Amino acid sequence: MSDERVEDIIIVGGGPAGYTAALYAARAELKPLVIEGFLWGGQLQNTTDVENYPGYPDGIMGPEMMQQFRAQAERFGTRFVTDDVTELKLTDGEVHEVVVGKETHRTRSVVLSMGAEPKRLGIPGEMDLQGRGVSTCGVCDGAFFKGQEVAVIGGGDSAMEDSIFISKFASKLSVIHRRDEFRASKIMEQRARDKDNIEFLTPYVPEEFVPGEDGKIGHVKLKHAETGETKDLAVGGAFVAIGHSPRSELVEGQIDTNEDGYVVTDEPSTRTKLAGVFAVGDLVDHTYRQAVTAAGSGTKGALDAEWYLRDMGGVSPEEHWGSNTGAIVEAVESPGS
Ligand code: NAP
Repeated sequence: MSDERVEDIIIVGGGPAGYTAALYAARAELKPLVIEGFLWGGQLQNTTDVENYPGYPDGIMGPEMMQQFRAQAERFGTRFVTDDVTELKLTDGEVHEVVVGKETHRTRSVVLSMGAEPKRLGIPGEMDLQGRGVSTCGVCDGAFFKGQEVAVIGGGDSAMEDSIFISKFASKLSVIHRRDEFRASKIMEQRARDKDNIEFLTPYVPEEFVPGEDGKIGHVKLKHAETGETKDLAVGGAFVAIGHSPRSELVEGQIDTNEDGYVVTDEPSTRTKLAGVFAVGDLVDHTYRQAVTAAGSGTKGALDAEWYLRDMGGVSPEEHWGSNTGAIVEAVESPGS
Protein backbone atom coordinates (compact mmCIF):
# COMPACT_ATOMS: atom_id res chain seq x y z
CA MET A 1 0.00 0.00 0.00
CA SER A 2 1.45 3.38 -0.93
CA ASP A 3 0.41 6.64 0.69
CA GLU A 4 0.51 9.39 -1.96
CA ARG A 5 0.65 12.09 0.69
CA VAL A 6 4.04 13.75 1.06
CA GLU A 7 4.97 14.39 4.68
CA ASP A 8 7.13 17.33 5.68
CA ILE A 9 9.24 15.25 8.02
CA ILE A 10 9.66 11.60 8.91
CA ILE A 11 11.83 10.64 11.86
CA VAL A 12 13.27 7.13 11.80
CA GLY A 13 13.93 5.76 15.27
CA GLY A 14 12.28 6.01 18.66
CA GLY A 15 14.99 6.77 21.21
CA PRO A 16 15.85 10.04 22.97
CA ALA A 17 17.16 11.59 19.74
CA GLY A 18 14.14 10.63 17.65
CA TYR A 19 11.51 11.66 20.20
CA THR A 20 13.22 14.98 20.86
CA ALA A 21 13.41 15.67 17.13
CA ALA A 22 9.69 14.84 17.01
CA LEU A 23 8.92 17.19 19.89
CA TYR A 24 10.63 20.12 18.17
CA ALA A 25 9.16 19.31 14.77
CA ALA A 26 5.68 18.92 16.27
CA ARG A 27 5.89 22.23 18.11
CA ALA A 28 6.90 23.81 14.78
CA GLU A 29 3.63 22.37 13.43
CA LEU A 30 5.35 20.07 10.96
CA LYS A 31 3.14 17.15 12.09
CA PRO A 32 6.04 14.70 12.21
CA LEU A 33 5.61 11.01 11.57
CA VAL A 34 7.93 8.87 13.70
CA ILE A 35 8.66 5.35 12.56
CA GLU A 36 9.71 4.33 16.04
CA GLY A 37 10.48 0.66 15.56
CA PHE A 38 8.68 -2.36 16.90
CA LEU A 39 10.86 -2.24 20.03
CA TRP A 40 10.61 1.52 20.48
CA GLY A 41 12.53 3.35 23.20
CA GLY A 42 16.06 2.45 22.15
CA GLN A 43 18.75 1.44 24.62
CA LEU A 44 16.89 3.07 27.53
CA GLN A 45 14.31 0.29 27.34
CA ASN A 46 17.04 -1.99 28.71
CA THR A 47 18.13 0.40 31.44
CA THR A 48 16.82 0.53 34.98
CA ASP A 49 17.36 3.74 37.00
CA VAL A 50 18.52 6.77 35.08
CA GLU A 51 20.13 9.25 37.44
CA ASN A 52 22.15 11.38 35.05
CA TYR A 53 19.38 12.98 33.00
CA PRO A 54 18.92 16.56 34.22
CA GLY A 55 15.46 17.39 35.49
CA TYR A 56 14.89 14.11 37.33
CA PRO A 57 16.45 14.74 40.76
CA ASP A 58 15.08 11.44 42.09
CA GLY A 59 16.03 9.47 38.99
CA ILE A 60 13.63 7.68 36.67
CA MET A 61 13.40 4.22 35.13
CA GLY A 62 14.66 4.13 31.51
CA PRO A 63 11.42 2.76 29.98
CA GLU A 64 9.31 5.29 31.90
CA MET A 65 11.52 8.11 30.68
CA MET A 66 11.05 6.98 27.09
CA GLN A 67 7.29 6.78 27.64
CA GLN A 68 7.37 10.40 28.82
CA PHE A 69 9.52 11.55 25.88
CA ARG A 70 7.05 9.87 23.56
CA ALA A 71 3.99 11.34 25.30
CA GLN A 72 5.48 14.84 25.16
CA ALA A 73 6.04 14.55 21.41
CA GLU A 74 2.52 13.14 20.97
CA ARG A 75 0.96 16.02 22.88
CA PHE A 76 1.94 18.39 20.07
CA GLY A 77 0.68 16.22 17.24
CA THR A 78 3.39 13.65 16.52
CA ARG A 79 2.10 10.50 14.85
CA PHE A 80 3.77 7.12 15.36
CA VAL A 81 4.19 3.93 13.43
CA THR A 82 5.28 1.22 15.86
CA ASP A 83 7.11 -0.92 13.35
CA ASP A 84 10.52 -1.27 11.77
CA VAL A 85 11.57 0.50 8.59
CA THR A 86 12.45 -2.13 6.03
CA GLU A 87 13.91 0.12 3.35
CA LEU A 88 14.94 3.74 2.91
CA LYS A 89 15.05 5.25 -0.57
CA LEU A 90 16.85 8.53 -0.08
CA THR A 91 17.21 11.21 -2.74
CA ASP A 92 19.21 14.40 -3.05
CA GLY A 93 16.56 17.04 -2.38
CA GLU A 94 13.63 15.19 -3.95
CA VAL A 95 10.90 13.23 -2.19
CA HIS A 96 12.33 10.42 -0.02
CA GLU A 97 10.58 7.09 0.53
CA VAL A 98 10.42 5.28 3.84
CA VAL A 99 9.22 1.72 3.44
CA VAL A 100 7.63 -0.15 6.33
CA GLY A 101 6.73 -3.63 5.14
CA LYS A 102 4.05 -3.16 2.47
CA GLU A 103 3.57 0.55 3.20
CA THR A 104 5.57 3.35 1.65
CA HIS A 105 5.64 6.78 3.28
CA ARG A 106 6.84 9.77 1.25
CA THR A 107 8.50 12.80 2.76
CA ARG A 108 10.37 16.02 1.99
CA SER A 109 12.82 15.55 4.85
CA VAL A 110 14.08 12.67 6.96
CA VAL A 111 15.76 12.69 10.34
CA LEU A 112 17.69 9.48 10.84
CA SER A 113 17.91 8.49 14.51
CA MET A 114 18.26 4.72 14.47
CA GLY A 115 20.84 4.79 17.26
CA ALA A 116 23.43 2.20 18.06
CA GLU A 117 23.45 -0.98 20.00
CA PRO A 118 26.09 -2.22 22.41
CA LYS A 119 27.95 -5.24 21.15
CA ARG A 120 27.25 -8.38 23.16
CA LEU A 121 29.50 -11.26 24.11
CA GLY A 122 26.79 -13.78 23.24
CA ILE A 123 27.41 -15.95 26.29
CA PRO A 124 24.89 -17.66 28.61
CA GLY A 125 23.42 -15.40 31.29
CA GLU A 126 24.28 -12.17 29.47
CA MET A 127 20.75 -11.23 28.45
CA ASP A 128 18.95 -12.94 31.37
CA LEU A 129 20.96 -10.96 33.94
CA GLN A 130 20.73 -7.65 32.08
CA GLY A 131 19.51 -5.14 34.70
CA ARG A 132 20.34 -7.70 37.43
CA GLY A 133 24.03 -6.93 37.66
CA VAL A 134 24.96 -7.11 33.98
CA SER A 135 25.15 -3.75 32.25
CA THR A 136 26.49 -2.26 29.04
CA CYS A 137 26.70 1.29 30.39
CA GLY A 138 29.24 2.09 33.11
CA VAL A 139 28.40 5.78 33.23
CA CYS A 140 24.71 4.97 33.73
CA ASP A 141 24.97 2.14 36.24
CA GLY A 142 28.39 2.36 37.92
CA ALA A 143 27.11 4.22 40.98
CA PHE A 144 24.79 1.33 41.85
CA PHE A 145 27.76 -0.87 42.73
CA LYS A 146 29.09 1.00 45.73
CA GLY A 147 31.39 -1.20 47.82
CA GLN A 148 30.99 -4.22 45.52
CA GLU A 149 33.44 -6.26 43.46
CA VAL A 150 32.76 -5.87 39.76
CA ALA A 151 34.18 -6.89 36.40
CA VAL A 152 34.56 -4.84 33.23
CA ILE A 153 34.98 -6.81 30.02
CA GLY A 154 36.86 -5.27 27.08
CA GLY A 155 40.22 -3.83 26.13
CA GLY A 156 39.35 -0.58 24.34
CA ASP A 157 38.93 3.01 25.49
CA SER A 158 35.32 2.35 26.54
CA ALA A 159 36.43 -0.41 28.88
CA MET A 160 39.15 1.81 30.35
CA GLU A 161 36.82 4.78 30.74
CA ASP A 162 34.11 2.64 32.34
CA SER A 163 36.68 1.06 34.66
CA ILE A 164 38.07 4.39 35.81
CA PHE A 165 34.55 5.69 36.45
CA ILE A 166 33.20 2.59 38.17
CA SER A 167 36.34 2.23 40.33
CA LYS A 168 35.14 5.30 42.24
CA PHE A 169 32.30 3.19 43.59
CA ALA A 170 33.41 -0.44 43.48
CA SER A 171 35.61 -1.89 46.23
CA LYS A 172 37.52 -3.89 43.63
CA LEU A 173 37.32 -3.95 39.83
CA SER A 174 38.72 -6.59 37.47
CA VAL A 175 39.31 -5.66 33.83
CA ILE A 176 38.90 -8.85 31.82
CA HIS A 177 40.40 -8.82 28.35
CA ARG A 178 40.94 -11.64 25.86
CA ARG A 179 44.48 -10.52 24.91
CA ASP A 180 47.51 -9.25 26.85
CA GLU A 181 47.70 -6.18 24.57
CA PHE A 182 45.12 -3.44 24.83
CA ARG A 183 43.41 -1.60 22.01
CA ALA A 184 42.84 1.35 24.35
CA SER A 185 45.05 4.43 24.10
CA LYS A 186 48.16 4.15 26.29
CA ILE A 187 47.09 7.07 28.45
CA MET A 188 43.68 5.57 29.22
CA GLU A 189 45.21 2.17 29.96
CA GLN A 190 47.76 3.77 32.27
CA ARG A 191 45.11 5.76 34.11
CA ALA A 192 43.24 2.52 34.80
CA ARG A 193 46.44 0.75 35.85
CA ASP A 194 47.21 3.59 38.27
CA LYS A 195 44.04 2.93 40.26
CA ASP A 196 44.70 0.90 43.41
CA ASN A 197 41.44 -1.02 43.23
CA ILE A 198 41.69 -2.04 39.54
CA GLU A 199 43.36 -5.34 38.54
CA PHE A 200 43.88 -6.66 35.02
CA LEU A 201 42.98 -10.26 34.22
CA THR A 202 44.42 -11.27 30.82
CA PRO A 203 44.16 -13.14 28.57
CA TYR A 204 40.79 -14.34 29.82
CA VAL A 205 37.56 -14.94 27.93
CA PRO A 206 34.24 -14.78 29.82
CA GLU A 207 32.26 -17.95 29.20
CA GLU A 208 29.15 -17.45 31.33
CA PHE A 209 27.47 -15.04 33.74
CA VAL A 210 26.08 -17.14 36.57
CA PRO A 211 23.35 -15.92 38.95
CA GLY A 212 23.72 -16.08 42.72
CA GLU A 213 20.98 -17.14 45.12
CA ASP A 214 19.28 -13.72 44.94
CA GLY A 215 18.85 -14.06 41.16
CA LYS A 216 21.40 -11.33 40.44
CA ILE A 217 24.81 -12.04 38.98
CA GLY A 218 26.98 -14.05 41.36
CA HIS A 219 30.08 -14.89 39.37
CA VAL A 220 31.67 -14.88 35.92
CA LYS A 221 33.10 -18.09 34.53
CA LEU A 222 36.44 -17.31 32.90
CA LYS A 223 38.69 -19.32 30.61
CA HIS A 224 42.36 -18.56 30.07
CA ALA A 225 42.75 -17.88 26.33
CA GLU A 226 46.06 -19.78 26.08
CA THR A 227 46.10 -22.53 28.71
CA GLY A 228 42.35 -23.24 28.78
CA GLU A 229 42.40 -23.08 32.61
CA THR A 230 39.04 -22.02 33.99
CA LYS A 231 38.12 -20.07 37.11
CA ASP A 232 35.13 -18.38 38.69
CA LEU A 233 35.31 -14.71 39.57
CA ALA A 234 32.76 -13.68 42.22
CA VAL A 235 31.21 -10.31 41.32
CA GLY A 236 28.22 -8.17 42.19
CA GLY A 237 28.24 -6.55 38.75
CA ALA A 238 29.65 -7.10 35.25
CA PHE A 239 29.99 -4.41 32.60
CA VAL A 240 30.30 -5.45 28.98
CA ALA A 241 32.26 -2.69 27.20
CA ILE A 242 33.32 -4.23 23.90
CA GLY A 243 32.10 -1.45 21.59
CA HIS A 244 28.91 -0.36 19.87
CA SER A 245 27.43 -0.94 16.42
CA PRO A 246 25.54 1.93 14.79
CA ARG A 247 22.23 0.90 13.21
CA SER A 248 23.19 2.30 9.83
CA GLU A 249 22.52 -0.75 7.69
CA LEU A 250 19.46 0.87 6.04
CA VAL A 251 21.47 3.82 4.71
CA GLU A 252 24.70 2.05 3.76
CA GLY A 253 25.81 3.12 0.28
CA GLN A 254 23.34 6.02 0.21
CA ILE A 255 25.04 8.45 2.58
CA ASP A 256 28.58 8.55 3.93
CA THR A 257 29.50 6.39 6.89
CA ASN A 258 32.91 6.07 8.54
CA GLU A 259 34.89 2.83 8.80
CA ASP A 260 32.88 1.79 11.88
CA GLY A 261 29.53 2.47 10.20
CA TYR A 262 28.69 5.75 11.95
CA VAL A 263 26.90 8.26 9.70
CA VAL A 264 29.04 11.23 8.69
CA THR A 265 27.41 14.65 9.00
CA ASP A 266 28.48 18.16 8.12
CA GLU A 267 29.24 19.02 11.75
CA PRO A 268 28.23 21.00 13.71
CA SER A 269 25.02 20.63 11.67
CA THR A 270 23.21 17.30 11.26
CA ARG A 271 23.17 17.50 7.46
CA THR A 272 24.27 14.44 5.51
CA LYS A 273 25.53 14.66 1.94
CA LEU A 274 21.93 14.33 0.67
CA ALA A 275 19.71 17.42 0.79
CA GLY A 276 16.79 16.89 3.17
CA VAL A 277 18.44 13.98 5.02
CA PHE A 278 19.68 14.61 8.55
CA ALA A 279 21.27 12.25 11.07
CA VAL A 280 21.33 12.54 14.85
CA GLY A 281 22.08 10.76 18.10
CA ASP A 282 24.13 7.60 18.55
CA LEU A 283 23.89 6.85 14.84
CA VAL A 284 26.43 9.66 14.43
CA ASP A 285 28.08 9.94 17.84
CA HIS A 286 30.49 7.22 18.90
CA THR A 287 32.00 9.31 21.69
CA TYR A 288 29.40 10.68 24.13
CA ARG A 289 26.42 8.32 23.65
CA GLN A 290 24.33 9.71 26.51
CA ALA A 291 20.55 10.17 26.52
CA VAL A 292 20.99 13.88 27.09
CA THR A 293 23.50 14.33 24.26
CA ALA A 294 21.27 12.28 21.95
CA ALA A 295 18.30 14.48 22.88
CA GLY A 296 20.34 17.61 22.14
CA SER A 297 21.36 16.18 18.82
CA GLY A 298 17.70 15.38 18.02
CA THR A 299 16.89 19.04 18.60
CA LYS A 300 19.54 20.04 16.09
CA GLY A 301 18.15 17.58 13.54
CA ALA A 302 14.61 18.95 13.85
CA LEU A 303 15.82 22.55 13.53
CA ASP A 304 18.01 21.69 10.53
CA ALA A 305 15.06 19.96 8.86
CA GLU A 306 12.80 22.88 9.64
CA TRP A 307 15.23 25.39 8.14
CA TYR A 308 15.66 23.15 5.12
CA LEU A 309 11.90 22.97 4.55
CA ARG A 310 11.60 26.71 5.01
CA ASP A 311 14.38 27.39 2.52
CA MET A 312 13.06 24.95 -0.10
CA GLY A 313 9.77 26.83 -0.02
CA GLY A 314 7.65 23.98 1.33
CA VAL A 315 6.70 25.85 4.46
CA SER A 316 6.18 29.58 4.82
CA PRO A 317 8.37 31.27 7.45
CA GLU A 318 5.32 33.16 8.76
CA GLU A 319 3.47 29.90 9.38
CA HIS A 320 6.49 28.56 11.19
CA TRP A 321 7.71 31.38 13.23
CA GLY A 322 4.53 33.38 13.80
CA SER A 323 4.50 37.15 14.16
CA ASN A 324 8.12 37.30 15.32
CA THR A 325 9.29 35.87 12.00
CA GLY A 326 11.84 38.54 11.16
CA ALA A 327 13.83 38.46 14.37
CA ILE A 328 13.75 34.70 14.83
CA VAL A 329 14.57 33.83 11.24
CA GLU A 330 17.49 36.24 11.34
CA ALA A 331 18.71 34.67 14.57
CA VAL A 332 18.56 31.14 13.26
CA GLU A 333 19.60 31.70 9.67
CA SER A 334 23.35 31.72 10.12
CA PRO A 335 23.86 28.44 12.04
CA GLY A 336 21.25 26.61 10.00
CA SER A 337 22.18 27.65 6.53
P1 NAP B 1 36.89 -0.75 20.54
O1 NAP B 1 38.00 0.20 20.44
O2 NAP B 1 36.43 -1.44 19.29
O3 NAP B 1 37.33 -1.88 21.60
C1 NAP B 1 36.54 -2.99 21.82
C2 NAP B 1 37.29 -3.93 22.76
O4 NAP B 1 36.43 -5.02 23.08
C3 NAP B 1 38.54 -4.51 22.14
O5 NAP B 1 39.59 -4.54 23.08
C4 NAP B 1 38.12 -5.92 21.75
O6 NAP B 1 39.15 -6.88 21.87
C5 NAP B 1 37.08 -6.24 22.76
N1 NAP B 1 36.10 -7.18 22.22
C6 NAP B 1 35.35 -7.02 21.09
N2 NAP B 1 34.54 -8.09 20.92
C7 NAP B 1 34.81 -8.93 21.96
C8 NAP B 1 34.30 -10.19 22.34
N3 NAP B 1 33.35 -10.81 21.63
N4 NAP B 1 34.79 -10.79 23.44
C9 NAP B 1 35.74 -10.17 24.19
N5 NAP B 1 36.26 -8.96 23.89
C10 NAP B 1 35.79 -8.36 22.78
O7 NAP B 1 35.55 -0.11 21.17
P2 NAP B 1 35.42 1.05 22.26
O8 NAP B 1 36.31 0.83 23.38
O9 NAP B 1 33.95 1.19 22.53
O10 NAP B 1 35.89 2.36 21.47
C11 NAP B 1 35.24 2.75 20.26
C12 NAP B 1 35.81 4.09 19.77
O11 NAP B 1 35.44 5.13 20.67
C13 NAP B 1 37.35 4.09 19.75
O12 NAP B 1 37.76 4.87 18.66
C14 NAP B 1 37.71 4.76 21.04
O13 NAP B 1 38.99 5.39 21.01
C15 NAP B 1 36.58 5.78 21.20
N6 NAP B 1 36.38 6.10 22.62
C16 NAP B 1 37.11 7.10 23.15
C17 NAP B 1 36.99 7.41 24.48
C18 NAP B 1 37.82 8.51 25.05
O14 NAP B 1 38.75 8.94 24.40
N7 NAP B 1 37.53 9.00 26.23
C19 NAP B 1 36.11 6.70 25.31
C20 NAP B 1 35.37 5.67 24.75
C21 NAP B 1 35.53 5.36 23.40
P3 NAP B 1 40.39 -6.93 20.82
O15 NAP B 1 41.24 -5.75 21.17
O16 NAP B 1 41.03 -8.25 21.13
O17 NAP B 1 39.77 -6.86 19.47
